[in-house]
Amino acid sequence: MVKKAFVTGITGQDGSYLADLLISKGYQVHGLIRKESSLNTLRIEHLMVNPFEPERNFFLYYGDLSDGARLTNLLYEISPDEIYHLGGQTSGKEGFDLPEYTGNIDALGTIRLLEALRRTGLKARFFHASSFEMYGASPPPYNENAPFRPRSPLGAAKTYAYFMTVTYREHYNIFACNSIMFDHESPRRFETAPTRKTTRAIARILAGTQKNLYLGTLEPVRDWGYAPEYVKAMWLMLQQEKPDDYVLGSGAGHSVGEFVKEAFSYVGLDWERYLKKDPRPHASAGAAYVADASKANRELDWQPRVNYQELVRIMVDADMEALGLKSPGEGKAILEKYKLNTIDRASGNPVGGMEEWPGLRKYS
Ligand code: NAP
Repeated sequence: MVKKAFVTGITGQDGSYLADLLISKGYQVHGLIRKESSLNTLRIEHLMVNPFEPERNFFLYYGDLSDGARLTNLLYEISPDEIYHLGGQTSGKEGFDLPEYTGNIDALGTIRLLEALRRTGLKARFFHASSFEMYGASPPPYNENAPFRPRSPLGAAKTYAYFMTVTYREHYNIFACNSIMFDHESPRRFETAPTRKTTRAIARILAGTQKNLYLGTLEPVRDWGYAPEYVKAMWLMLQQEKPDDYVLGSGAGHSVGEFVKEAFSYVGLDWERYLKKDPRPHASAGAAYVADASKANRELDWQPRVNYQELVRIMVDADMEALGLKSPGEGKAILEKYKLNTIDRASGNPVGGMEEWPGLRKYS
């Protein structure tokens, strides 16, 4: 029997990598997309097939996390085996501009989906993408036992969604899991994230279409991983015997400034010449968030391998090549080394040995 997965946020960074992974594993993937006036399917274009194709394994449905009736109808229609809930307003900074919207989509959107699952009575397994933003003012170590003291609309909304996921697991006996994810990036990361903003700016500076890079504080220390490795952990969580919650992160912390310097020096540019201060106040000034993911290491056999210097190279190479520039190429070599290439853009086929991942081999 072909397994069916329903994915919210499929047009985003993680949703698109997860769809790659699930299709490479033989799943039928059903994704929720928003009805927009401009194209939002750029990251999944390589997976899209003609809707009249009888043998297709990739399906998209218009809908929104603000629309509970639509979510319920879709679950009835699709009858998925696994639900991956990744959709939402995902920017900590924008959360302060859009606090009500962030609560509606990230907090209440999760309850709408959980309610849809409960009402349909399906036995689908449920994954919720939660965030280190929930820790807020809590001191390290940041593991599953650390208290949540959110200090942002995004953190507060994710905390509500986290506890509702736990509640539906315990009260209704639903196989529901939370991941508490630390930052993970890639060439598919949204363009205003400091990492992607940096690697894109470098490519544009080299192409002569941008003069400077404007960033806020360089101090915040983050735990940066490579997104395709994190979606594998999402899948592993739903293959366990029992549902549980897991912190996902690399365990290594680096400041925004370190990332910027590493990226500029990779292509031989002097960062001090191009970096300018964005004077606006920044909510995350000074905070250091580094994961203690020992539970996921131990129980899921999951450990991300791409370190932040390698991540820089993967992202700079990709952004340069997207502009038709010749990249230094170290990023591509790193993907080869770890067998992490996901999709051959020319043929559209998944490539690059997902089977090389030890955890996947164990549960395949
Ligand atoms: P992303 O690239 O920003 O993608 C967000 C997705 O949610 C997009 O597909 C977006 O659709 C969709 N979405 C937004 N509002 C929606 C709505 N009202 N209804 C339905 N869909 C909606 O985020 P990501 O980096 O892939 O992150 C995936 C999940 O992991 C998120 O829940 C995020 O909070 C969590 N997380 C990520 C990180 C990280 O470092 N990446 C860290 C911690 C937690 P459009 O394409 O139409 O905008």
